[in-house]
Amino acid sequence: MSEVKKPIRKKIMATKEMRQIMADYFYELDSAAKSNDKKVAWCSSVGPAEILRSMGFYVYFPENHSAMLGATRMATDLIPYANAIGYSPEICSYLTADIGAYLKKITPLSKAYEGIEGLPKPDVLVFNTNQCRDVQDWFGWFANEFDVPVMGVQTHRGVGDVTGAHVKSIAGQMEALIEPLEKVSGAKFDMNELKRVLSLSRECSDLWKRVLDTAAATPSPLTFFDGTIHMGPAVVLRGTQQAVDYYKVLLAELKDRVKNNEGAVEDERFRLYWEGMPIWGRLRDHSELFTNLKTCVLASTYCNSWIFSAFDASDPFNSMARAYTELFIVRSDKAKERYIKEMMKFFKIDGIVYHDAKTCPNNSNNRYGMPQRLEEETGIPALVIDGDLNDLRCLSDEQTKTNIEAFIEQLEETK
Ligand code: SF4
Repeated sequence: MSEVKKPIRKKIMATKEMRQIMADYFYELDSAAKSNDKKVAWCSSVGPAEILRSMGFYVYFPENHSAMLGATRMATDLIPYANAIGYSPEICSYLTADIGAYLKKITPLSKAYEGIEGLPKPDVLVFNTNQCRDVQDWFGWFANEFDVPVMGVQTHRGVGDVTGAHVKSIAGQMEALIEPLEKVSGAKFDMNELKRVLSLSRECSDLWKRVLDTAAATPSPLTFFDGTIHMGPAVVLRGTQQAVDYYKVLLAELKDRVKNNEGAVEDERFRLYWEGMPIWGRLRDHSELFTNLKTCVLASTYCNSWIFSAFDASDPFNSMARAYTELFIVRSDKAKERYIKEMMKFFKIDGIVYHDAKTCPNNSNNRYGMPQRLEEETGIPALVIDGDLNDLRCLSDEQTKTNIEAFIEQLEETK
C-alpha cells in the first residue's frame, strides 16, 4: 500500500538566530536581577516599555513567561494552585498559570536556559490596562509578594476613533510615571534617551509589520503559527538594536521565499485569518492540522498587536499614548470590524477562525455577534472554536479537529 504524502511545513531558517537573541535577553535579565546596581522592571506586554528601557531598567514581561508555560504545556497543572488562593479558574489563565508557577517555584526558563533558577526579581512593576484589568491584579499580587512598588496607566476601553482627549489623558498618565520611576531607578529621566529608544521601537514595529505583510503574497511565505514564535523580539526587545537587526534578517528570508514562490504550506489552497489568542499548548498540532488540509492560517489580529505605527520620536509621550490606545483590543466593535475587513482584503482571506478563549473575554471577539455581522457583510465564512490560551481543560481536540475539517470542506464546496 502506498503511503499518503503529507504536505510539508516549511521551516524558517532565522529561527536559530531568534533563539539566540532570546537566550541573550533572558541571561542578561537574570544577571541584572542578581546584581546590586541594575534595576529590573516588569511590564505588561503592551505597557510603556520604552519609558522603562530609556530609564535603564531591564524589562521583563510576565505574559511572555505565561505563554512559555502554555507552550510547554506546564500551565494546566499549575492553574489550580492560583485557584486555591482565590483566583478563579474563569479569569485570565496567563495570570493563574504564572502565579501557580511562582507558588510551585517552577519556571520553564530553568529548562530552556541552563543556570537560570527563577524569575528576575522586580524592583518595580508597570502595567497598562489597555488590554484588560487582569494585568493590574496580576502585577499587584507580585508587587505584594516582592514588596516593591506597582504603578500603571488606566486606559479608555471600547474606543471608536482615538481623539485628542484620549491622547492627552494617557500621555499625562505616562508622564506622571517618570517621577516615581526615577525614585526606583535612582537616575534622572533623559528625554533624548527616550527619543532614541522610541525610534528603535518604531523601526522594530515597521519591520515587524513588513514581516507580517509578506503573508499577503500567494502562496504565503509564513503562517500565523510562525508569527507567534517570531514575535518574541517585537514583544520583549522592542526599543533595542537587537530586535531591529533580527527582523531585517527574517524579512530578507521571507522576501526571498516570495520571490521564489515558496509557500509556508505546500500546495496552499485556502487562506485563513485567526482572530483571538493562540492556543499555546497546541501550536504544533494546529499548524500540522491546517497544513494537512493544505490551508494556511496566515494572518491574525494577535501578531499584528505589536505594530505601533504612531510612534514618533519627535513627540514621544503623545505618540506613545496614541499608539497604545489605537490597539485593536482597546477599540469598539465598529472599529474592530473595520480593521478586520481591511485585513481580509489585504491578505486575500477565504475564511476566519475565531478562537473563543474561555479565560480571556478581551481577546474573544465572537461573543457579541461580530462573526455573523462580518459574514453577512463580506460573504467570507467564519468558524468559532472553543478553547483557551493556556488552560487545556477548556478545549476538546477531537471537536476542534472535526469543526476545522468541516469548515474546510465548506470552503471547498464554495471555491
Ligand atoms: S488580555 Fe487576556 S490573556 Fe492577556 S493578560 Fe488580559 S486577560 Fe490575560
